[in-house]
Amino acid sequence: MKQICILIPTYNEKEVLPYLYERLQRISNQLANYDFSFLLINDGSTDGTLETINSLRQQDSRIELVNLSRNYGKEIAMMAGFDYAHGDAVIILDADLQDPPELISQMLEYWEDGYEDVYAKRSSREGETWLKKWTSKKYYKVLQKMATIDIPKDTGDFRLLDYKCIEALRTMRESQRYTKGLFSFIGFRKKEILFERESRVAGTTKWNYRKLVGLAADGITSFSIAPLRLATILGFSILTLGMVLLLVFLLKEFVFEMNVSGITGIVSVMMLLSGIQLLSIGLLGEYIGRMFIETKNRPLYFVSSEHRGIVRPEKSKRIG
Ligand code: UDP
Ligand code: MG
Repeated sequence: MKQICILIPTYNEKEVLPYLYERLQRISNQLANYDFSFLLINDGSTDGTLETINSLRQQDSRIELVNLSRNYGKEIAMMAGFDYAHGDAVIILDADLQDPPELISQMLEYWEDGYEDVYAKRSSREGETWLKKWTSKKYYKVLQKMATIDIPKDTGDFRLLDYKCIEALRTMRESQRYTKGLFSFIGFRKKEILFERESRVAGTTKWNYRKLVGLAADGITSFSIAPLRLATILGFSILTLGMVLLLVFLLKEFVFEMNVSGITGIVSVMMLLSGIQLLSIGLLGEYIGRMFIETKNRPLYFVSSEHRGIVRPEKSKRIG
């Protein structure tokens, strides 16, 4: 029987956990020809989520728990999930049931057809403010222009990944994570399915605009060094302008022997020099940017406790 691991990053989701468990149970009963396990990553919850998970674990041995030492944010919680996930395929699911678990059967069908990354794209954004919808639309546009890889818009983390993809994702251990970009980066055979994103069943969103802006910035800076390039471009333009001005000044002064004011000469020399300066800072930036991308190799998270079921050894190799 094929093993499917459902990976659920969880942060202060006490209220939704009973609903989640009920839905998961229903789905796993319907798909009885698969062997399910539910891997909950407790991302430093402070509201009794841990106790609720523990009491669910008493009822059902398929529930596994990795308890992180503090709140690291969803991106890192997912990474912990990739490290601890085992099975033939992994499905990432939000705890709040905004990603309908009913889609899992369709994902599994595509997976059986040979697709390795079946991702759910939302056709509507129910229960979100117009401001969030608008900013996200603009953001995807900018990201698409700046990034070197194709990141599908309106796609969250709700997806089925073949174990091959999980192994690939484990090797990418940068700390400023933008997992959505990494899914694109690793490649593999992808399939898109459409769904209506529902509102949360209970509790409140953990995202606020400050966190969203942070994630958006990570998306741009970890996949492009365009902001650093600004100094290079600016420096180059000013340098060109300065050279043209100086040339005009010299021609007027010595070739046409016109009496031009010294200010023009001073300005053009100044532009030339500051252009060269900005250009060199920009060049430094380009190299620092590359180093910045390469040097992120701190441990991403620490685990305070883990409770897992029987894990097939060959499928649970951990890197890092
Ligand atoms: N989450 C997490 N750590 C955090 C914030 C969120 O593990 O620091 C989890 C959360 O429990 C949920 C998922 O990430 O399962 C998505 O969070 P949320 O529903 O708040 O985000 P939204 O759906 O509003 O984008
Ligand atoms: Mg949500």
